[in-house]
Amino acid sequence: MENVDVFSAIDNKDSQNYSFSMHFIGPHVSIRENISLSPERAHELGATGFAIFTKNQRIWSAPPLKDEDAVSFRNEMARLGFSPSSVLPHAGYLINPASPDEELRKKSLELFEDEASRTVKLGLNTINIHPGAYKEGSKEDGIRRTAAMLDAVLDDIPEIRIAVENTAGSGTILGSTFEELEAILSGVRNKDRVGFTLDTAHLFGAGFDVKNDITSILDRFFSIFGKDKLYGMHLNDSKVPLSSHKDRHESIGHGLIGKEAFIEIVSRGDTENIPLILETPDESRWESEIRLLKM
Ligand SMILES: [Zn+2]
Ligand SMILES: [Zn+2]
Repeated sequence: MENVDVFSAIDNKDSQNYSFSMHFIGPHVSIRENISLSPERAHELGATGFAIFTKNQRIWSAPPLKDEDAVSFRNEMARLGFSPSSVLPHAGYLINPASPDEELRKKSLELFEDEASRTVKLGLNTINIHPGAYKEGSKEDGIRRTAAMLDAVLDDIPEIRIAVENTAGSGTILGSTFEELEAILSGVRNKDRVGFTLDTAHLFGAGFDVKNDITSILDRFFSIFGKDKLYGMHLNDSKVPLSSHKDRHESIGHGLIGKEAFIEIVSRGDTENIPLILETPDESRWESEIRLLKM
């Protein structure tokens, strides 16, 4: 019963506070000590959205998410006015949906489903995942394996949506072009519950000139996929050059992208009502980064 009450409290909060459109901006905050402390960590920095890991992302298995912790997380969300659509959990880096190794893929699926279930239990509806690395064999087979794993999770957990994150594309890592993202989506049956997260540092690494062309990059994304397929963004400046195929985040305005592109992103109407997450390395700058982007 308690769960039902919490959900309706969130729904009410939602309709009170978010009947208008806004940009949900905030950092990827820590869940240390207790996951229910994370909304306050975002709130005290002035954030209007945030990201979390649903468990320690370095280990394959963690103790189950306690009911009481999930309830206090949802209570904290409601108390601080965070809509579920302003929060984007990031799945752990151990998961490789494209792996050719059957054993590793089985473990990945178990972990992915565990994290998707935790997401739902926290009152959230979308989880962010990297499409994975195919390691050997053909890229097409890798894309097929990734799509199959997304379907397995979506079949088993009807409440979840999956945001596939674009990558900088080093080695056999999938997802560095819109064509590859499109191929993954095409391979999925549950197309209505798959969308994308665009990470600006990854775009830049993959050869998209975010510094000079962010407007046309987003326009092109929306013309290929439609407005409702952008489930979130990761707003990161980059330490490494255009087309480096490397992934090194920098604070907003301190990297090779520069702050203008980020101001452009948060000036657009089509980036409203989705999480816009800072994964920038210097926590002491988060508050001022949020202030800059909320303007
Ligand atoms: Zn990521
Ligand atoms: Zn990154």
